[in-house]
Amino acid sequence: MASIIEVKNIKTKFGDKVVHDGLNLSVNEGEIYGIVGPSGSGKTTLFREMLMLQKFSAGSIEILGYNLGKIKYNKAQKLRTEWGVLFQAGALFSSLNIKENIALPLTEYTDLSKKMINEIVEFKINLVGLKSSDALLYPSQISGGMKKKAALARALAMDPKLLFLDEPTSGLDPISARSFDALILKLRKLLGLTIVMVSHDLQSIYATLDRIAIIDEKKIVYEGNLDDIKDTKSEFIQTFFRGVNSI
Ligand code: ADP
Ligand code: MG
Repeated sequence: MASIIEVKNIKTKFGDKVVHDGLNLSVNEGEIYGIVGPSGSGKTTLFREMLMLQKFSAGSIEILGYNLGKIKYNKAQKLRTEWGVLFQAGALFSSLNIKENIALPLTEYTDLSKKMINEIVEFKINLVGLKSSDALLYPSQISGGMKKKAALARALAMDPKLLFLDEPTSGLDPISARSFDALILKLRKLLGLTIVMVSHDLQSIYATLDRIAIIDEKKIVYEGNLDDIKDTKSEFIQTFFRGVNSI
């Protein structure tokens, strides 16, 4: 299977504080890959590094064949259109309605006509299970679950092959969270997406992930499927997965 993300020996420091001390992982095309670890272990920072929003101190990251440490401006701009991102806070613009939020990447990165953009937005709204009549609502007028769906529709606006989700179900009620899991599985199949997801939602982890990387003590303490986790000696793993399949 082709790997489309290769993280090699990544080290990250903020001043004297070491956050990552040599992370290695690889994400294969078509999989839903999870990143799990204690709060403050540098999951979001790793995301930001993969998204070229944050510099790492050492190591290399290759995504879709591009070495991020050496990439030129034009290639970087192109790469930015090939992934979609859903950040932890959802981050819809509160002054824009759903339709305008989803249209934003299309107006920013393409010169498509207004009519074409409207059609794409309408399609994405339906794709994530929102109704066409929701398009004119503002973020303050919709539920948490709908916000996540709208943010997901915006992440999918440019038809990316790769999707980054940072704790997509956190803050959702259980029914919305399970519905979001089902949506992720549906979209992976329908669109052939590769998905990298930070999560600490155990149900979501077991429902959606093919493989998982666990960060603890600044390193990847486990990378692999969900079945073999119990053989790993890590206090975080023992605590986090306690009670699951009688680990
Ligand atoms: P997680 O997402 O796993 O909870 P983060 O990646 O948000 O963790 O943060 C990892 C650590 O790095 C935390 O201690 C955080 O305070 C620190 N950190 C993150 N970004 C910065 C920054 N820009 N400057 C200084 N410290 C930072
Ligand atoms: Mg985080």
